[in-house]
Amino acid sequence: MPTATKSCIFCDLIHGAAEVSVCYEDSLALAFMDIQPVNAGHVLVVPRRHFESLSDLPHDLALHLFEVAMKLEPVIRSVTKAEGTNMIVNSGAAAGQDVFHYHVHIIPRKAGDGFDVPLPWAESDMPNRMQLDACAARIIAGSQDCMRSRYVAQDVAAD
Ligand code: AMP
Ligand code: ZN
Repeated sequence: MPTATKSCIFCDLIHGAAEVSVCYEDSLALAFMDIQPVNAGHVLVVPRRHFESLSDLPHDLALHLFEVAMKLEPVIRSVTKAEGTNMIVNSGAAAGQDVFHYHVHIIPRKAGDGFDVPLPWAESDMPNRMQLDACAARIIAGSQDCMRSRYVAQDVAAD
């Protein structure tokens, strides 16, 4: 969804209607300090235009945001003397997204800081190889269907 239909805190701060501590900006993207950082230096990279989540985001813009995050990550690590980084996207309410304006978290980490992304997840079973292969095959078939419908859409557009 390219325009914010409801009020959006990130749109507000992008448009100067709320306080924000910006650490990077260009014509498409902005990066600013998370208001409730996991650790000092926790940054959010966002598109200037309102897109809710990963599935709404144009491909080129997604790549650009990742490129910005890749540029900032070593700087943040160096400035905060971090030992590692989590780069996280929560896309969709089921995945824990709270602010529905797409964003990439850059979280500088130190050993023993107490934050955790618990992977592998202790509560999940390990599927057998047949189940993993079956899942991989479904994804391969899904990708092929996706490509096919994209070609059909391009052909229709070219006619
Ligand atoms: P998520 O759960 O991935 O949607 O994360 C939303 C993030 O936005 C959280 O880490 C919040 O601390 C952060 N956040 C919410 N409001 C603001 C704000 N006004 N300025 C900066 N960060 C914010
Ligand atoms: Zn927004």
